[in-house]
Amino acid sequence: MTNQDLAALRQNILSVQERIARAAEKAGRKPEDIRLVAASKMNDAERVKAAIANGIRIAGENRVQELLEKFEAHAYDGASLHFIGTLQTNKVKYLIGKTDLIHSVNSDKLGQAIAKEAGKKGLCQDVLIEVNIGNEQSKSGIDPQDLDRTIENLCQLSGIRIRGLMAIPPISNQCGGNLHYFDRMRQLFIDISQKKYDNVSMDYLSMGMSGDFEDAIACGANMVRVGTAIFGLRPYMMK
Ligand SMILES: *Cc1c(COP(=O)(O)O)cnc(C)c1O
Repeated sequence: MTNQDLAALRQNILSVQERIARAAEKAGRKPEDIRLVAASKMNDAERVKAAIANGIRIAGENRVQELLEKFEAHAYDGASLHFIGTLQTNKVKYLIGKTDLIHSVNSDKLGQAIAKEAGKKGLCQDVLIEVNIGNEQSKSGIDPQDLDRTIENLCQLSGIRIRGLMAIPPISNQCGGNLHYFDRMRQLFIDISQKKYDNVSMDYLSMGMSGDFEDAIACGANMVRVGTAIFGLRPYMMK
């Protein structure tokens, strides 16, 4: 990394932290109650390490192979590691013991596979349930109307602990275009909290990315996943 890259990364982190703090205050919440997950896909170990040296406390990865390579390179030392991407059941075993939180439980089958693998290792894996809040055919996640049934199924398993909900709303190119989805997520989050399922604690509501994390915070997000606003454009975004 050049000095210039490093300076830009530092500046981006400060700026995102500042924007989060302002959004939190505007919503009557404390800045420290919002957790920032740096979505580091396609950024190499050196850049991830630099982000952690400059204030990032949680790294979020999308692909298992990429996570394992960077893990081997000690990219995440000193930080917490989250998995935020689509996860295939046959790859679960590579994550257990490494990830503090898996955001993307999008089926009962995946939740069961996580519980099983964690159980084998004598661990309990914290997870979020991914909700398909836009009811999009093309997107993964549990449909809102099936959420209670999935939570009832998974909360009985001993190798897994449900800590909240995650959503990736439909792509919107309009400012504020996702407020409606974020608001529905907040309602679901509150509904589930009030039902007081055993072994479920609704601690985290993970929503909001570079383009809309302030809106997500306004609607109750306490975990935001930010990639490009921290690391800059990913290679495939540069045309
Ligand atoms: C890449 C990614 C993000 C961050 O997206 P940006 O728009 O780059 O901030 C957040 N969540 C998930 C699941 C992602 O894959």
